[in-house]
This record gives sequence, C-alpha cells and structure tokens, in this order.
Amino acid sequence: MTVPSPSDLPARPNASSRPEKALPVRPRRSRLPLAQLIKETRLFVVDMDGTIYLGENPLPGAWDFLRACQANPRLNCLLFTNNSSTTAAHYEQKLRRLGWNGPLPPIVTSGDVAIAWLQREQPRARVCLLATPSVTRQFEAAGISLCPPPSGPDCNQARRPDLVLLTFDQSLTYAKLASACQAIREGASFVATHPDINCPTENGFIPDCGAMISLISTSTGVKPLILGKPFPETVAAIETLSGVPRAQMTFIGDRLYTDIACGVNNGAHGLLVLSGEASQSDLPGYPVQPDAVLPSVADLVPWLS
Ligand SMILES: [Mg+2]
Repeated sequence: MTVPSPSDLPARPNASSRPEKALPVRPRRSRLPLAQLIKETRLFVVDMDGTIYLGENPLPGAWDFLRACQANPRLNCLLFTNNSSTTAAHYEQKLRRLGWNGPLPPIVTSGDVAIAWLQREQPRARVCLLATPSVTRQFEAAGISLCPPPSGPDCNQARRPDLVLLTFDQSLTYAKLASACQAIREGASFVATHPDINCPTENGFIPDCGAMISLISTSTGVKPLILGKPFPETVAAIETLSGVPRAQMTFIGDRLYTDIACGVNNGAHGLLVLSGEASQSDLPGYPVQPDAVLPSVADLVPWLS
C-alpha cells in the first residue's frame, strides 16, 4: 500500500481559524543527532502497532526498550494509539498477553484526547456519540453528557445534540449514521477522533474512522474537526495528562503522516522507526521529515542507560 501524503487525510476546514497557542518554532527540519534528541526528551510518546508489536507479535527488543525507559529516572514513556474502537484496558490486556510483565506504562487513545477536548472546550455539550459499548462507558464515566443512542433514523428534536462525535465505531449501524447526519444537518458540530482511513488487522485492512468521516461528510457537506494524531489537540491532551511540555516530548512511531507529523508539526520531536509501515525509501521528498530514523525501538536501548 502506498504511504498516504498528509493531504490524502480528511481535511480539517476549521483548523486554521481556531485560536491555538503560539508554538515554539525552530528551523525545520534536518535530522538531530540521537544524543541531542534524547537529551531534549523527557517523555517518549510511543505508538503501538508497528512500533512495539506487529499484530499479535511483540517486536524484537520492544520490552528492552520499555524496561530501559522505566529504568531511566530522567525519562518517562506513554503509549498512544489513534484507535478509538476500544479503551486503554484492552491494550493493557494485550501487552500482558504478548508477554510484557513489567509495570504498565500509561496508555492513551484518541478517545481520551476527545474526552480531554470536550472537558476543556465543550464541557456542557450534549454529545451524540458514535462508539462501541466499552468506549461509550468510558465517556459516561468521564461525565460527558451523552444523548441516548438513536433507535431509528429520525433524530428526536427533544434530545437534539450539540455535537456529533465519531470514533472508530465498530458497532456502527445505519440508524446511528442517519441520526448523526440529521443532527449535523440541523446544526450540531461534527468532531471525529482520528483521520486514519484503514486499520490494519491480521486479515488485511478494515475501514477506519477516516472512511466513516467520508461517508458522513459526503451526506452532510460538513467536514469535521479531527482530534487524534497528527493534530495539535493530541499534543495538548498529552501535555495536560503528563505535565511535560511539548518541547520535551518525542513521538515515536512507524507512520510519517500521523506519528511523525504529530511531533514535528506541533512543537515536539518525531522519531521514525522502520519496523512497521514506513520504509527508508518513503523519506526522500516526503513533506514531513522526522528528527531521527532508527530500524526499531530496540536501537534506542543503548542510548537510554
Ligand atoms: Mg503504528
């Protein structure tokens, strides 16, 4: 599969008009010596699939990398995935199943970014949430005001939402879609957790949130605000959750247009690993360039002690 360019992802029409904090800017973008990158890093924000494991197989040296991070008193690491079809608990179980027996690092999803964004920007919004049951329970537990799930294609006026929030809803139905589209046509804002078009699985690709965005946008003519990697709301949420400023964060991952773009376009760093999607041949001329490139996270281990 060809690596998408950032311009292939669903657009965020209102991104440029929204007020955002001025970001620290440094000249872009030659590679940084690895020693300098690590010196400037206090928090590694680490992608999972293609970076720590591939499907159901841990990548060689991944556990050594996590152990080295946890043993270094100057560094922290946090695992982040754009996949909002499930919650952190699912990934904790997966890490255990794959053989990680150390302390579990914090795990953050684009669903967590959406909750942080709602709590900060839209604390009183009534939300029409398109999500799986476990993610719906996560939003309820966070105190988000959810409209009852639609039972048919008609959106009940009495429970009209302020905002439609689309996650990677693997329980999506036609009734949910129709109700969400009607709410957006009647003025509800449209927000989505992440732009990924397809999700890799053991059996090939399945349509992800970005493909669902296309369906809703085609029906309504409205493009959403998107929150996950590579967008600034992800960095803002991780700053809030971790207390580490973005200039001291390094995003590590195997995708240029989400993992690396999230770091380098938002005042943090980006370290590309070649253990998943991207390969060395994708780099020349690509609009997003990482600060450093390594074969895998295992190659970081000697630098962390
Ligand atoms: Mg990945």
